[in-house]
Order: sequence, then C-alpha cells, then structure tokens
Amino acid sequence: MHVVVLGAGIAGVTSAYSLALRGYEVTVIDRANAVAAGASHANGGQLSYSFTDALARPSFLPGIPGLLLGRDPATRVRLLTRPWLPGWGLRFLRQCTHKQARNNTIAVLELAMRSAHRMAMISEQTGVSFAHKKDGKLVLLPEGADLEASRQTISLKKRHGCTTELLSMADAIALEPAIEAMAGRYAAALYSAQDETGDARVFAEGLAGWLQRNKGMNLRLGETVNGLLRDGARIVGVQTSKGEMTADAVVVCLGARSPDILRDVGISVPVYPVRGYSLSVPRGSAAPRISITDLKRRILFSPLADRMRVSGFADFVGFSDRDDAARIALLRKMASETAPLAALYDHPQSSPWAGSRPMTPDGRPITGASDLAGLFLNCGHGMLGWTLAAATADDLAEVMAQSVNSCKPPAKSN
Ligand SMILES: Cc1cc2nc3c(=O)[nH]c(=O)nc-3n(C[C@H](O)[C@H](O)[C@H](O)COP(=O)(O)OP(=O)(O)OC[C@H]3O[C@@H](n4cnc5c(N)ncnc54)[C@H](O)[C@@H]3O)c2cc1C
Repeated sequence: MHVVVLGAGIAGVTSAYSLALRGYEVTVIDRANAVAAGASHANGGQLSYSFTDALARPSFLPGIPGLLLGRDPATRVRLLTRPWLPGWGLRFLRQCTHKQARNNTIAVLELAMRSAHRMAMISEQTGVSFAHKKDGKLVLLPEGADLEASRQTISLKKRHGCTTELLSMADAIALEPAIEAMAGRYAAALYSAQDETGDARVFAEGLAGWLQRNKGMNLRLGETVNGLLRDGARIVGVQTSKGEMTADAVVVCLGARSPDILRDVGISVPVYPVRGYSLSVPRGSAAPRISITDLKRRILFSPLADRMRVSGFADFVGFSDRDDAARIALLRKMASETAPLAALYDHPQSSPWAGSRPMTPDGRPITGASDLAGLFLNCGHGMLGWTLAAATADDLAEVMAQSVNSCKPPAKSN
C-alpha cells in the first residue's frame, strides 16, 4: 500500500517513520529543497514532555486588552490579516475555562508522556544523533506568580505520571548556577527532570536519511502540492508542481499550511499560524546546561551542541514576515537583558530565524482519519510539535492500520 505524506517537517518525517515501520510504501513530498524547512527548522529545541499547560486558560483573559493594544512585547496581534483571526480567536476564547484548560493540559500531557517513550525507541532503533540532552528543564516563575496554582498543577500532573517540582530560587541556582547571572526577579522555579532538548531539524534530516536507506522511503523535495485528487468521497492522490501522483492514502502534515489544501476538498481545520522567532548563537561564559524558560518574558534558552538556541514570542499576524527583523532584534535585546552571559548575542555567527506554529484553539494536534476515505491528518501541533510528533505519528499509523478503507468521522472537532 502506497502512502503519500505531504510535508517533510517533524510531523511528516515521524509519520513516514511510523508508517514505514508498519510496512507501508511511503513517499514524502515537500515544496522546500530541504527537510524541516518550516516551523521545525530552528524551534526552541525543548522536548517539553512535562510542561503541556494549555495556552487557552482563564488567566489568559485579563491580558487580552493589553495584547490588542500592543502592550505585551512578547505578542503582536493583527486581527484583520489573512488567515482571518477572529473566528479562530473565538474558538480559542471558548477554551479559556478552568475545565477546558485542565482537560486540554491533561490530554496533551498524556500524548507527551507517550511521545517520550516513542522518541527513546526511535533514537535507539535509528541511532540518529541530534544534539540530544536529557538534562531536564527549568521554568522560572516571576515575582507575584500564583505558587498555589503551580502546586495544584504539579499534583494534577503527578496523577498522570509526570513529575515536576517547585523549587526555591536557592535550590534552582544550586541545580543550574547560570541562573545567578540572570537579571530577572523570580519567585520560584518549576523543574522537570524528564524533559530533554534536541535539534528538531537535525533529527528530521537524520530520520529522513535513515528511512531512505533502510525503508526505501521516496523523498521528493522542491515539489509543491497544489491539491488533492478526488474520486467521489475518496482521495486517490495529489496534484503537485511536477504532475499527478496516485496513492492509496494521503496524510496531510503541512503544518500551518494544512488548512489551504484541505479547504479545497471541503474540510476545515482550525489551524492558525502563530509566529515565533529564534536566534542560534555561540554560548557565553554563563551558559545554562539545563534548558530554561523565563515565563514572564516568554523567552527560552536551550543549549544545543555548541550553541545556545534562544527563542520566543507568539505573534498573531498571519503569515506576514513584515516585522521579522524587528521582532528578532527585540528578542535579541530582551534575551541579552534577561541572561546577559548565557550567549554571545552579537556574535557574527548568530543565526536568526522566524517560523509559524500550527496552532489549534485547544492546543491539541489533529491526528486521524478525515471525512474522506484515503485522507488522513496529522497537523496542528502548535507550540509543542517537536515534543509531540513521535506520539502523534504512532497514533496516525495505528488509525490508518485500522481504518484505511473506511470513512471515519473527523478526528476532532473544536
Ligand atoms: C519560535 C518557535 C519555537 C518553538 N519551540 C518549540 C519547542 O521548544 N518545543 C516544541 O515541542 N515545539 C516547539 N515549537 C513548535 C514546533 O516547532 C512545531 O509545532 C512543529 O515544528 C510543527 O511541525 P510540522 O511538521 O507540523 O510543521 P512544519 O515543520 O511547518 O512542516 C510543514 C512542511 O510543509 C511544507 N509545505 C507547506 N505547504 C506545502 C505545499 N503546498 N506543498 C509542499 N510542501 C508544503 C513546508 O515546507 C514544511 O516543511 C516552536 C515553534 C516556533 C515557531
């Protein structure tokens, strides 16, 4: 059985892996000339298995007027650019209840826990190296943070097999001395020993190469997918910039571009591009060994090989790249003020980058069968695609094995 996977980002390549392992003949198509050229290219590098807290939660609501007025430097909102934000935004607001936030956090946590196991298996089987470190993650909570709420989240997560600890700043500094050189004023830190870091692009490239060598995967780069080929209620292939390709099944892993292709066959998925930025720079004299997230500034620091990956911000500006240079300059400034000795921010070898997270309103990926026979989805991984990809790929392959010839209801609805 021939399966065509659309998109060679982290979701597409891990999907190809899970499908190939089950014996499918797999072709992966991407318009870029390299694997992981989209959101997976230079993301934050955190395999954040423990920190799956939903962005849509009640505490997000009081900050909305400030966001709309441009008062939060870590977020920009442009309501009227394409794709159209208000519809998605209303769905997001409906998720901002205690109940929904809790359900979404736990659903993603369960996915993340499985993803950790799957990643360990993939690493062991393929031997792909990707600057992988298992040193944990620290989240620095600002002064005034609700520590009781943090304690409640810790005990909730513990019931789902995830261990995080609330540390005093003295204990956090004992664990990661580089924090002492940071400028922020923090109340406490959350620590998870289970969390890891790694370079998603290097992993995707390595895994794609392994699949080509060991599973005969056909990787077609520099080929744009223009549409899906339909025969009644069945998808039978794809139309690309190089012609038609027939397939027994097609999997859409086009990240934030997934809605474009699906719209043409009458399927609507609530995936919105949330822009973020990163800088990869040589390490400084007080570079953290453990990955650190500064929660207030929404900036994270991940040691990746000999570099520091600094990333952050969440801009609701559609696919517009108009402000990328200014936003990266602000990220550089805020990071250097926050952790002046963590990295050589102005080094000529710094690599700036911008990408669009494929966000769903509830923060859950969309994985499974579609309304159309032969068409499967694995998209909408949002802020945690690197973390969740191994599990969603496995889920996709499982669903396909069970239902490839049947018409299923949509994988999810929001
Ligand atoms: C600044 C930033 C920091 C992040 N940090 C983290 C982190 O620390 N941890 C974490 O878990 N996640 C993080 N993420 C999120 C994570 O990077 C994404 O969720 C993930 O990369 C999405 O992967 P994907 O394969 O779905 O999409 P993508 O990587 O975007 O892949 C989609 C692919 O589809 C291709 N494509 C699109 N349209 C077409 C077409 N018409 N024809 C052919 N090909 C097409 C693109 O070229 C692309 O390669 C971060 C994201 C950003 C932006």
